[in-house]
Amino acid sequence: MIIGSHVHFGKDQLVGSVKEAISYGANALMLYTGAPQNTFRSAINLDYIKEAQKLMAENNIVMDNVICHAPYIINLANKEKIEAWHFSINFLKQEIERCTTMGIKYIVLHPGSAVKHTKEEGINNIIEALNLLELDNCKCMILLETMAGKGSECGSTMEEVNTILKGVHSQNIGVCLDTCHLNDAGYDMSAFNQYLDAFARLIGLDKIKCMHINDSKNILNSHKDRHANIGYGTIGFATLLNIINNEKIKDVPKILETPYISKEEGEKELVYPPYKWEIDMIKKGIFNSHLLEDIREYYK
Ligand SMILES: [Zn+2]
Repeated sequence: MIIGSHVHFGKDQLVGSVKEAISYGANALMLYTGAPQNTFRSAINLDYIKEAQKLMAENNIVMDNVICHAPYIINLANKEKIEAWHFSINFLKQEIERCTTMGIKYIVLHPGSAVKHTKEEGINNIIEALNLLELDNCKCMILLETMAGKGSECGSTMEEVNTILKGVHSQNIGVCLDTCHLNDAGYDMSAFNQYLDAFARLIGLDKIKCMHINDSKNILNSHKDRHANIGYGTIGFATLLNIINNEKIKDVPKILETPYISKEEGEKELVYPPYKWEIDMIKKGIFNSHLLEDIREYYK
């Protein structure tokens, strides 16, 4: 089982990220090279890469299972302000360079929101932007994430993702499936095998390079995108466990992006990372109905 979670990327960069993943019992991890909501990025320190590589080797973590997530503010679909669109492309180019320096192969990208454009125009803008990146010359692969279809989000259907993939003049592009987004987009995760069969026919399973495993706070087809802890949402533990253990995607890293836990029940501020406990119950294959209590007890 290749499983991990979103981790921080702080002052000691990849070293801290790997240490955090190890503390959760993970053998995969996903990081933002800075804050997810902004584009301020500090230079990559080469000493930290060596140290991280050593730590990874000692803990059986391979670079293919270290995933980068591009910040949300990159929007390749919206060309209304042409400077902003070019800024997004340039930022992604720099992100590819940062990842290449660190030896990270996969960058997850939200395809983008069309805003005032039609969906079709938005998708064409995404294709045009990705082609400007000349992905054939990149060592990293961009993974288009399947979206919930909130607002004007592009890439919430398999067909839209396929259109983008087919429009890009490079094979160096793949897909990241997100279980919460798929549920919210209208794909029933309890029929995941049917989804995979359709994906295999239209796109090909070899394009799936990463999976985000999240439960959902909302019902099927809600177009909302609010992640819930594993087994605490509408998808449920058994369904998510079946997906994680699906033979057809067993070599694909599974990344948790579930919400942190508040100090007390009902509090808004989310402070405790749940990943150690969620990974533990996934490995054991048994739902922990005291998950929140266990986490609060540990950090108290
Ligand atoms: Zn994402």
